[in-house]
Amino acid sequence: FGALQAQDPEIAGVLLSELDRVRSGLQLIASENLTSPAVLAALGSTLSNKYAEGYPGRRYYGGCSEVDKAESIGIERAKRLFGADHANLQPHSGASANQAVYGAFCQPGDTILAMSLPHGGHLTHGTKVSFSGKWFNAVHYGVNKDTEDIDYDQVRDLAREHKPKVIVAGGSAIPRLIDFQFFREVADEVGAIFWVDAAHFIGLVAGQAIPSPVPYADVVTFTTHKVLRGPRGGALVCKEEHAAKLDKAVFPMMQGGPLMHAIAAKAVNLGECLRPEYQTYARQVIANAQQLAASLGEKGIRPITGGTDTHLSLHDLQGVGVTGKDAEARSDAAGIVLNKNAIPFDPQPPNTASGIRVGTPSVTTQGMGTEQMKVIADLIHRAVTQTDGDPDHPVAKDVRAEVGDLVSRFPAYPRG
Ligand code: PLP
Repeated sequence: FGALQAQDPEIAGVLLSELDRVRSGLQLIASENLTSPAVLAALGSTLSNKYAEGYPGRRYYGGCSEVDKAESIGIERAKRLFGADHANLQPHSGASANQAVYGAFCQPGDTILAMSLPHGGHLTHGTKVSFSGKWFNAVHYGVNKDTEDIDYDQVRDLAREHKPKVIVAGGSAIPRLIDFQFFREVADEVGAIFWVDAAHFIGLVAGQAIPSPVPYADVVTFTTHKVLRGPRGGALVCKEEHAAKLDKAVFPMMQGGPLMHAIAAKAVNLGECLRPEYQTYARQVIANAQQLAASLGEKGIRPITGGTDTHLSLHDLQGVGVTGKDAEARSDAAGIVLNKNAIPFDPQPPNTASGIRVGTPSVTTQGMGTEQMKVIADLIHRAVTQTDGDPDHPVAKDVRAEVGDLVSRFPAYPRG
């Protein structure tokens, strides 16, 4: 860092002020976490320099002896952690891992069945603005209006009607466990590939805190930077029969040279996840999310589905008469970082939204427990209902001061 400061104080300053921003606020974005200094060290390493198209032992460049070791170690750790036949750590991101699934199993024009974005799915699951919706015929299931959980009857009916090539389970705003066995049975009935996009919850699987999709799915894609707490990136694990096809779809079909520094960092993170402490962490993430959801609910900020089984909860703000957009801005001005989110059957457009999504991966990494979640719920409630987005509002100032006190007791990246 000294070299960066000396050469480019402008960018060094940005890095420092970002660290300051993270340290001084409450980080409740469900898809973020605070990765370890060891992971950051691997990311900032000379492995960034190396071209290594191909896979360990089968590269298109010389000089790959050392990066081969890093990737092989990472692959072995992923297979052990998830009990998987095969792993590929090369996808640059979650979206790239998903592209590989389409590349391996679909032709343009094929039908896929996935969760709709406004009900909790993901852009890469066939939305019109994504390649997946432009090149494939996407049919979407949603949630049941009463339970607000996945409408399993609709999944079965749509699968029977449309005979999709691929059925996808998973998304970005699903607080409940997914019945993987049900999806497997439906996929078998209609002859579809069953793909789980576990980007959000794979860390909870790694920590053995929730059931794994790996025994059920043909392929499981994920991001490595959410609950899992690794570097920003993607990965996939799959059954042996699909290994060669998926490897070819990652490289050379969708990507060029792998990011070897990121792959080494993924290996470091997977090593961390194999330790017992990580299992304790994963369980605490869920306990914290359940407490936060319940405490917000008690204050009239209703959790969709009544609560959560995972690291995130989605909340309906209509009861307190605030939009998601305003809640996000008001929280931000009070030192609380969270995001607006559409709720199922949302009357508001997506960029306004009636909900917020909160997640506990980062605050749990900071060492907070359920007592702190009760405090956080109170801070969110006051910021959302008693302020106006102006950082100088007296209640915003009070909340910010209390946030400052809380995070000073549970610091992100403790100094020294
Ligand atoms: N899939 C799901 C379910 C996600 O939630 C995300 C990101 O939030 C992705 C895929 C895409 O990951 P990335 O942003 O790394 O491309």
